[in-house]
Amino acid sequence: MEDTIVLYPIVSIGHLVSMVELGMLVLRQYHHLFSVTVIIKAYPFITPNVTAFLRRASETTPSITFHHLPSLSIPSSIEPSSNRSRAAVLDELVRLNNPNFLRVLQTISKTSTIRALIMDLFCAPASSVASGLGIPTYYYIPAGATFLSFLLYLPTIHNQITESFKHLAMTHLHIPGLPPIPALDMPESTLDRENQGYHCILEIGSSLHKSKGIIVNTFESLESRVIKAITDGLCIPDAPTPPVYCIGPLIASHTNHTVEGESVNQCLSWLDAQLSQSVVFLCFGSRGVFSKAQVKEIAVGLEKSGQRFLWVLRKPLSEDNNKHFFIERRVPDLDVLLPEGFLDRTKDRGLVVKEWAPQVEVLNRESVGGFVTHCGWNSVLEAVCAGVPMVAWPLYAEQHMNRAVLVEQMKLAMPMKKSKDGLVSAEEVEKRVRALMELQEGRVFRERSRKMKEEAKAAWSDGGSSLIAFTKMAESWIS
Ligand code: UDP
Repeated sequence: MEDTIVLYPIVSIGHLVSMVELGMLVLRQYHHLFSVTVIIKAYPFITPNVTAFLRRASETTPSITFHHLPSLSIPSSIEPSSNRSRAAVLDELVRLNNPNFLRVLQTISKTSTIRALIMDLFCAPASSVASGLGIPTYYYIPAGATFLSFLLYLPTIHNQITESFKHLAMTHLHIPGLPPIPALDMPESTLDRENQGYHCILEIGSSLHKSKGIIVNTFESLESRVIKAITDGLCIPDAPTPPVYCIGPLIASHTNHTVEGESVNQCLSWLDAQLSQSVVFLCFGSRGVFSKAQVKEIAVGLEKSGQRFLWVLRKPLSEDNNKHFFIERRVPDLDVLLPEGFLDRTKDRGLVVKEWAPQVEVLNRESVGGFVTHCGWNSVLEAVCAGVPMVAWPLYAEQHMNRAVLVEQMKLAMPMKKSKDGLVSAEEVEKRVRALMELQEGRVFRERSRKMKEEAKAAWSDGGSSLIAFTKMAESWIS
């Protein structure tokens, strides 16, 4: 019988891409020993960039089998709403897919030995399916060790305090390996104990230690302090910590970028016409959107900064903003959204791209010298691998925690600060963009980022920490 590794991702771009890269890595290093199957669950909120990515990945990597679970009739109750967080919706979708997931695992097992099932952390409700079949299960964390330490420590925090984080405005949480972080900066799904999402995340945190291992998309020298805290067992005080494999950075390979077409070519050729390290890139992940008022502040700040910029802009939120996690398209009308005359006045030094840009390629362009980012973990790793310094402007999920470590521990980013009205003012945008691109302060960040880029490369070179961790994990599948 053939030996196989099965991957079970969440079908959103920030979770999917690095997991498929992990599958490619297994094949690159161990194609003589293992085949790789990626199981794609039925998912009603699939976005065009995910569809494009899956099409491209299956074309360019025919050696990976992509197995799509049959579509499901999804109950209308699954629509996200103000009191149902994304975590709760994902949890329910995984459970709905469980019967089909079981059938597929049983079918694969007839012809192959599943040496490892690697599941996205949000697939935790499928773990009983795998354990019922006796399949060794690993969790994959597409985020950093920072988020992992929070997840592992959440059950302890839960027992120590009784209030919801949202009621602890003056409190900082002390999570092993991390700087003190305000309770309000925890992921939004966890802010309210009454919210189902909180209990889903708590459940994930409690299940991780029952796995054969935890695979994290990070590398030793990027998050050394928190990795040590986790592996020393400080995050799970009452039980043994399973093996933790830090095998990053896994980022989208250039051939797998997630968009195609005219706007891509336009923005890359525009960048190629700019001077070295002269452009600041503003991009806020797959789900980052701002209010109209905030868009205006950014525009005014960018204009006043006098810097060259490439800005990825989406249509602002409506009142019903909880659905923004799952929406399909957010193509903005630039003439309506931007201050009058903005595009004309900045046309010689700025480009606004609608909705989506090929971020990995952009960050690796010679002309890009800074990145204003929402601190999504893939974006952080992509900037690290390109050696580009950042301004940290977190929006959702674990991004506020990422900002804390980027600013206070790694010192690879300067923070963007909000005013009392909750907006980042034009003055703040101008100040940070100038500091990053023009001032001595920015040069210090650039030099640190260049060094971390080298560390990222070293992690996957001979004797590098990620290569060693990956080999150790793969060897355990063989024996
Ligand atoms: N991305 C991109 N172009 C865009 C916006 C995002 O290519 O205009 C990619 C980005 O390179 C990253 C992913 O989408 O790989 C976003 O993942 P991240 O973890 O940064 O944020 P999330 O979308 O999960 O919040």
